[in-house]
Amino acid sequence: MGVIELFKDLTTEFASLVEFQARFYSEEACADYLFAQKWPCGFICSRCSHTLAFRIDTRRLPLYQCIHCHYQASPTVGTIMESSSTDLRKWFTALFLVSSTESSVHALRLSKLIQVTYKTAWLMLRKIRQSITQADHSVKLTGTVYVDEGKCGKPWTNNFYFEADEFPVLVGIAIDDQNQPTYVKIQMVPKSDYTDTDILPRAICAFHDTHVDDEATMTHSARVRMKRKDMRGYPTFKKAKTWIKKTFRGLAQHHLQHYWNEFCWRVNSKFHNQSPFESLLNLCAFTPSSLYANLVK
Ligand SMILES: [Zn+2]
Repeated sequence: MGVIELFKDLTTEFASLVEFQARFYSEEACADYLFAQKWPCGFICSRCSHTLAFRIDTRRLPLYQCIHCHYQASPTVGTIMESSSTDLRKWFTALFLVSSTESSVHALRLSKLIQVTYKTAWLMLRKIRQSITQADHSVKLTGTVYVDEGKCGKPWTNNFYFEADEFPVLVGIAIDDQNQPTYVKIQMVPKSDYTDTDILPRAICAFHDTHVDDEATMTHSARVRMKRKDMRGYPTFKKAKTWIKKTFRGLAQHHLQHYWNEFCWRVNSKFHNQSPFESLLNLCAFTPSSLYANLVK
């Protein structure tokens, strides 16, 4: 990609970027890594479950043909990279930049770094963030769960009512037996579920039904009854607001939920000592490209 000056502000990440590019030096190296993510115990035919296949190397990416039913599968089938004409190396670099830098990456910068059009970079990032959102929806908060209310948007006032450009969020944090946080979620509240001054009870019920395990003990704290220092999720929420303001200025409200989810994914990966790149690639390897197409419809 050769635009070294654009990596200047990655500072401590620069060494690992070199390492990263040395590891994923070719399309084949990326395809082999994807194969291992998709089929960690070896090839399994998605049509007949047979475990032996021929490898066909005459295409841009290798194909695996089941020796029983002759079904052909690419390592990108069922991933966000399926049917994309963009090189796997560029996809992998995008995943690296999203996962390995504190500030993430926006579409204009990504388009310059991997030399694709702005539209392509924007779509790649949307698909990556959609994968994070889908993965978040599959996780429920367990143990002791605290749900706090917060608000964001312009002008970020400390009033207890919501200004025209402000909107409420619910911050849920799960705590384990050792009093350590295990998972955090930040969810925007739909317009129909709050008034000028309050989040309605049905929003809390919806949060519980969607994001909290049935056996968890949930405590909800309304803003008017709580001091910030007593809100378990407030430090994470404060950092998330600062991260979004600094990194992604002028985001439309309808896109914001994906950025809350990206921030929470970063925090949750740290809680569980997961490698951010591997964790992100794994999410993207199990999110079909078609899912995104259906969602934007
Ligand atoms: Zn088969």
